[in-house]
Amino acid sequence: MSRYWSAIVGQLTPYVPGEQPKLDNLVKLNTNENPYPPSPAVLEAIRTELGDNLRRYPDPNADHLKQTIAEYHRLSPRHIFVGNGSDEILAHTFRALLKHDQPILFPDISYSFYPVYCGLYEVAYRTVPLDGTFSIRLEDYTQANGGIIFPNPNAPTGRLLPLEDIATLLEKNTQSVVVVDEAYVDFGGESAIGLIERYPNLLVVQTLSKSRSLAGLRVGFAAGHPDLIEALERVKNSFNSYPLDRLALAGAVAAFGDQAYFEQTCRQVIDSRERMTEALTARGFEVLPSAANFVFTRHPDHEGASLAAALRAHSVVVRHFQLPRIDQFLRITVGTDDECTALISALDAILETAS
Ligand SMILES: *Cc1c(COP(=O)(O)O)cnc(C)c1O
Repeated sequence: MSRYWSAIVGQLTPYVPGEQPKLDNLVKLNTNENPYPPSPAVLEAIRTELGDNLRRYPDPNADHLKQTIAEYHRLSPRHIFVGNGSDEILAHTFRALLKHDQPILFPDISYSFYPVYCGLYEVAYRTVPLDGTFSIRLEDYTQANGGIIFPNPNAPTGRLLPLEDIATLLEKNTQSVVVVDEAYVDFGGESAIGLIERYPNLLVVQTLSKSRSLAGLRVGFAAGHPDLIEALERVKNSFNSYPLDRLALAGAVAAFGDQAYFEQTCRQVIDSRERMTEALTARGFEVLPSAANFVFTRHPDHEGASLAAALRAHSVVVRHFQLPRIDQFLRITVGTDDECTALISALDAILETAS
């Protein structure tokens, strides 16, 4: 702790991202990246943008990208906000829409960045326990609140809350903003974006990091009523006028232009997830039903932490959270079929030695 720090800095508990190992030849199944490369159209668009233009600032309002996303989701650009990854959008959301007298609500098991933003922006929160099957219980969200946020599918469980339930929640909760973080929705869920014209307090946040294979480009967007979007714009324009650079803008626009590639890679991930789930189940693992590009799983006879360490010794990296209720679980990203095979072979070797 330095005497030069602002007082709040010493009190922050920063988010710890999954490891990005410097070693090659690891099977990396720990940060939910897409195992397939970005669309060739994205790479081509970025190459085209590489040139003299970089001398100039990018469009601070990202109009072309907003227009592209709006058309894709049959909305107007006034319904769309874009940011440097959805993490940045979430940060602005906590600042712009979730700081009120009442605490905000989110599940006890969900994206571990939410409490970090609360710490940074001094937003009061209350966690709401998932039920025994790790599902969201809607009744628990009818209490007074300053806002509600959850990922759907949830992370790190992978469980999906049906769209009807989100509509039900919005019918009951009209006094505060409901944020649905759809980082994984393209792997088996139905987006709540279709509900935003009916519910002025719904904000849906998505990212190009997962289903569009662009974690390295840092692009996310939010869709919601123009009043919500304006609040985000006000915070963004008080923070950084140019969160998306020229390469990110060009690549992101191109990503929405290649629907066939998007659908094909999502389908491959979903099919691999189902095969991986079967293989894990056959080895005695309990696997929560997943609508995401990862599975959340535990073995009744093996500690989560020791399984994660043993996999690491076999050059397979998965995510383990040392947190209450989930410390026996592993979160395993769905890789290519070869990566999934490497995971299962490593597990066979580990379970064999242990028995
Ligand atoms: C990955 C993830 C994000 C953030 O993605 P960005 O790369 O910042 O766009 C947001 N929410 C959840 C639940 C995630 O898993």
